[in-house]
Amino acid sequence: MTAIPDFDADCPACAALCCMALAFDAGDAFAIDKPAGLPCPNLDATLACTVYDHLDEAGFKGCARYDCRGAGQRVTQDVFKGRNWRDEPALAEPMIAAFASMRQIHEGLELLLAAGRLDLPDSLEAERDALLEAYLPNGDWTESALDAFSRSDAPARLAAFLPRLRDWV
Ligand code: SF4
Repeated sequence: MTAIPDFDADCPACAALCCMALAFDAGDAFAIDKPAGLPCPNLDATLACTVYDHLDEAGFKGCARYDCRGAGQRVTQDVFKGRNWRDEPALAEPMIAAFASMRQIHEGLELLLAAGRLDLPDSLEAERDALLEAYLPNGDWTESALDAFSRSDAPARLAAFLPRLRDWV
């Protein structure tokens, strides 16, 4: 198995994926509506946020609350080798897809690691190990591997596995 990834978001190492890939609705958390796949108008040409030092006052407190759990920098640096959708617009769509898969992987992996701190019976521990192989495989994640993951039964297996831990929590 490969090393456990960093779950702390490293925004400078990310191509502002949450600011482009995700949708938000105007309201208390966001000042404007933004569809998924379009860059936020507060992003500058270098992919820096022009209101980041006063998100609340600018009406974007939802951004301060959002946490990709380290998926953004991993997609940008490990999968796309530092390239970004601003310089290469054709990357927007594959980066959105990879970001969605990686968020799912990091969220699931954190749950599986937390389950490892429980005193599970051997049968559940074996299932956890099998799921870990899907969420933390040998080798690097690639676009095709992420796509295969998103089409696999791993997320459904994890969703079925977690409720069965309640007697050991
Ligand atoms: S306000 Fe700033 S942090 Fe929030 S989505 Fe826009 S650019 Fe990103």
